[in-house]
Amino acid sequence: MKSSDLFARAKTLMPGGVSSPVRAIKPYPFYVERAAGSHLTTVDGADLIDCCLGYGPLILGHAHPVVREAIERQLEKGWLYGTPSPLEIDLAEIITGDHPGIDMVRFVSSGSEATMAAIRLARGYTGKQDIIKVEGGFHGAHDAVLVKAGSGATTLGVPDSAGVVADLVAHTRQVPYNDPEALEKLLSGNDDVAAFILEPIMGNVGPVLPDDGYLADVREITAAHDVLLILDEVITGYRVGIGGAEVLYGVKPDIATFGKIIGGGLPIGAFGGRRDIMELVAPSGPVYQAGTFSGNPASLAAGSAALRYLHDHPEIYRRLDDATRAIEEVAVDAHQGSFVRIGSVFKHFFRGSAPRNYREVKECDTEAFSRFWKAMLDAGIFLPPAQFETNFLSAAHTQVDIEQIADAYRSCLFA
Ligand code: PLP
Repeated sequence: MKSSDLFARAKTLMPGGVSSPVRAIKPYPFYVERAAGSHLTTVDGADLIDCCLGYGPLILGHAHPVVREAIERQLEKGWLYGTPSPLEIDLAEIITGDHPGIDMVRFVSSGSEATMAAIRLARGYTGKQDIIKVEGGFHGAHDAVLVKAGSGATTLGVPDSAGVVADLVAHTRQVPYNDPEALEKLLSGNDDVAAFILEPIMGNVGPVLPDDGYLADVREITAAHDVLLILDEVITGYRVGIGGAEVLYGVKPDIATFGKIIGGGLPIGAFGGRRDIMELVAPSGPVYQAGTFSGNPASLAAGSAALRYLHDHPEIYRRLDDATRAIEEVAVDAHQGSFVRIGSVFKHFFRGSAPRNYREVKECDTEAFSRFWKAMLDAGIFLPPAQFETNFLSAAHTQVDIEQIADAYRSCLFA
């Protein structure tokens, strides 16, 4: 059955025909038959080079043999125990070993769950109620972080979704990214703030990169006000290198959240941090957190295999950097908008200069982006379908893929 027919069926069964809103490509999304390495094959017979990669988890590409083997081995031993398994100790050791700021972790099943629990933990630890997030920062789809951008520091948070209780998001304040003064000002006038949560590199409208010294300033300001710093490393974790943004920028969080890559492509999330904070999590402490699928054996096996592979092949990060730079060189040549990248995270913004915060991202010409996106798809390259989503490369992208992506950039940006 063709994608158009499948979508006609899906629309009658699922809201918008999809399981997550960004997938609702117009007029209908393409349906994938199979994926291997850097390629997707659609039910319509198209072969696409994938620069979306499941929105980030697949740094080794689709169906990587080492990860697949780990999953298959685990499936033979069962995939849900409801008891502790040695697998969770393995992955916890890898993650705590790679992050100087993380003494302990708790595994959950998604990045959203991780940030939700991290915020609860920060409130439980500090006894304070408010949180601060970055305008346009994304931390998943739970109530405390679904706050309209633009409802800045001076106003109480306003829900960004129907069904979110206004009283709850009133406790969420926002500051612009790359603006340490705004953070300092807000904290100077509010002593009820439990935590500042931020993506160290804005990934869900970006990449928007931190100015030199921004993250160090953020660390200093939060510490001076006894406010916990939650680094949301759901995208950056193991993507910008082993140790994520914490190690890359040398900024030590009180709590960090993870997801995506640490599950090797299967569902996972985790939050971790300083021992004295993490020991407040149930059952060792009073901050409740639980989940039927937490520490799922298949996800843990896949995640450990992927992270071990990255440890054993550290050259992957350099190769990814080189490959992404090759695309950048073409895009920069095109003099159309601005190309931003860090490692294998990249995006072409239809705006004169690289945006420094959400308001600047919003100035992008989204219609030009849509035309470009469609032209890229026609050229066989699948980019995430929104100006406000990040593109990724994987270790499975070959030299031929990179040349094809670069050629497509050249022709589609000049079109
Ligand atoms: N935090 C960040 C920075 C993310 O990018 C995402 C998802 O894209 C989340 C949290 C939520 O993760 P999940 O989709 O696994 O719930």
